[in-house]
Amino acid sequence: MIAARHLTTLRKVVEALAPPETRVDRVLGQMATTIDGSSPGRRAEALQLLDLLALPMRLGVGTRRKILLAMADSPVAKLRTGFALLKRLTMSYAFSESDADGTGNPFWAALGYPGPRGDRPEATSFPQLPLSYGTDGGRVSADVVVVGSGAGGGIAAGGFARAGKRVIVIEAGKAFAPGQVQQLEQNMSEMYLDRGVAATDDLGVAILAGSALGGGTKINWCTSFRLEDDVAAEWEAESGIHGLGRELAPHYAAIERELEIAPSREQAVKDQVILDGAKALGVHAAAMPRNAQNCSGGCGYCGFGCAYDKKRSTDREYLPDVVANGGAIYVQAKALRVVTVGSRASGVEVEQRLPSGEIVRFTVDAKEFVVSSAGTLRTPGLLARSGVRNPVLGKRLFLHPVQSVVAFFDHPIEAWNGPMQSAYSNAWSRRTGNYGAKIETAPMHPGLMFVAIPYAGPESITEMLPKAKYATTLISLTRDRDPGSIDLDDEAQIHYRLSAFDEANLFEGLAGCFDIAFAAGANEVWTMHNRQIRISKDDWNAGRRAMLAEQLRAIGTDSNRGITFSAHQMGTAPMGSDPRTSVVDAAGRVWGYDNLLVCDGSVFPQASAVNPMLTIMAMARRIVAQHVPLVVEEAKPIEAPEAVPAGAPLAAQHLETLAAPQAYPTA
Ligand SMILES: Cc1cc2nc3c(=O)[nH]c(=O)nc-3n(C[C@H](O)[C@H](O)[C@H](O)COP(=O)(O)OP(=O)(O)OC[C@H]3O[C@@H](n4cnc5c(N)ncnc54)[C@H](O)[C@@H]3O)c2cc1C
Repeated sequence: MIAARHLTTLRKVVEALAPPETRVDRVLGQMATTIDGSSPGRRAEALQLLDLLALPMRLGVGTRRKILLAMADSPVAKLRTGFALLKRLTMSYAFSESDADGTGNPFWAALGYPGPRGDRPEATSFPQLPLSYGTDGGRVSADVVVVGSGAGGGIAAGGFARAGKRVIVIEAGKAFAPGQVQQLEQNMSEMYLDRGVAATDDLGVAILAGSALGGGTKINWCTSFRLEDDVAAEWEAESGIHGLGRELAPHYAAIERELEIAPSREQAVKDQVILDGAKALGVHAAAMPRNAQNCSGGCGYCGFGCAYDKKRSTDREYLPDVVANGGAIYVQAKALRVVTVGSRASGVEVEQRLPSGEIVRFTVDAKEFVVSSAGTLRTPGLLARSGVRNPVLGKRLFLHPVQSVVAFFDHPIEAWNGPMQSAYSNAWSRRTGNYGAKIETAPMHPGLMFVAIPYAGPESITEMLPKAKYATTLISLTRDRDPGSIDLDDEAQIHYRLSAFDEANLFEGLAGCFDIAFAAGANEVWTMHNRQIRISKDDWNAGRRAMLAEQLRAIGTDSNRGITFSAHQMGTAPMGSDPRTSVVDAAGRVWGYDNLLVCDGSVFPQASAVNPMLTIMAMARRIVAQHVPLVVEEAKPIEAPEAVPAGAPLAAQHLETLAAPQAYPTA
């Protein structure tokens, strides 16, 4: 438990940063739980910071705030990191906390934020799946054990189950049936890795990843893209697996049919900005392909799980097959290591927290396969703990780094409302070869909004409260060429700095966000840097755009001068034909092992350039199909996307708007 002296300092920090209306005790409680639940290294760092601040935080509130603000912009990276941590925790909990019924937050009325929607059904046709519990020292027997139940794990478990195998799923997160989804942002911590505060070692990139039954698919934003043809060709060259792109086609088709993936039939007001702006500029934009259609009024709360049973997450679509075929699902169950005998994986050692709070350890014996689907950030550690030695393991971490702008309009946007992402633009996605940035939107609920909005004192909050309803967030989602890495020990520290090449693409995408927002009628657009860049519509012209590029270059992406996010982690156990440069072979087998498979985002040989869920699923399905007979669907005839030529971003490339019939966007 966090010590009383640390809590005292933390209270002083919250009182200095958050507005006076803040329910400080509630915020403190959530902060303490998060710090306590962090990895030992991260927890020690946070407590060290609080020790450092103990004396200065005894000063008056104004002085305390000045000290904290000086940290925000300090040339000393460690101080900026410290500020980023304190600000992130304070803002996220101050603006997301509420009573259990979704009332009581002191800021929501001023924001115009309604909290949970009133149209949640009491029950849906999809019940909670039966869950299983281990006994201490016990043994469970299976044909296949799958660790993790997200995009890759769900497909692998369902695929083996449909082939008649008894599958055991081991999932570290909790299970949430639609009826248990409360649409409260404060509950996100229950569904995300590291309670939603995962980050790179210097906190420079905030990492969002799902941790629940269904993994990322439970909480993600439903965007469902195929790999673009030119990127697939690059993957083939990089991995040495020829025909990979072609081989994925039938798996994409099968999953698209099962998940009813189609271009969004509804447009959120925030996404209409992309369509309107791109149309005015004469550049590409299209409706987003999604795995949730006909949502209740477009909803907008998918990031907290779907209360309406509309989103086709893996727990909804594939895990029922596990149960139907005699398998079992264990939640709050962490795979400690894979047991191996020579080149064979024989099972998994598991630690499970029972509903009573008791912790039990047991072993799942697997007759045929052990599958690691623990995700890009956890598969490397699991394999390393299990004795896998491969110099590439954990090394090629791609993050699709994202920075955003906030754009203000005359009309209400309510960026928490409507499909999570219903439009996108590829106009800046080919800046350098196949590298560049996609432009998409991000839904904004209050916690995330105030984590992202720069903090320059209480005025920043007072200014934003009435404006928030009129704001949309546009993101520059960058395909990164140059990877970082993740440590293989229990701390799993992430080391990642953007290269100059990736930074240039990120910034060109950000400038594209300005172009789109102003073309769509925005009055003012802000970046999210500590030293914020604000541009109003009357000032936006070629000269100001060139100056923006200079300003962004000068700020750079050095840690914590602004906020960078990643919701897409890929590539830490890449697939390839050469054991010296990859971790798994073309059939998803870890080199050196006959039956140890990896089915998750870690097998990507490079960043995908598109939101990765559907490709993780297709890769997993392709792997499963190489080990058991699957009914493989014929590819549906899907109109090929027009190639987006490299070059001047503002030149008319291809225009698809709501008014025109939408080509099926696979790019
Ligand atoms: C907020 C958000 C929005 C996103 N939106 C989109 C989107 O719209 N479209 C898109 O394509 N992608 C999106 N993504 C990304 C996408 O969800 C992920 O890329 C995808 O889910 C990753 O699949 P995976 O199988 O690699 O791992 P995950 O889906 O992350 O699943 C890994 C699972 O393994 C579990 N696990 C980890 N370690 C262990 C262990 N030792 N024992 C047992 N279980 C373990 C975790 O709890 C987790 O549930 C989004 C991600 C986030 C966070």
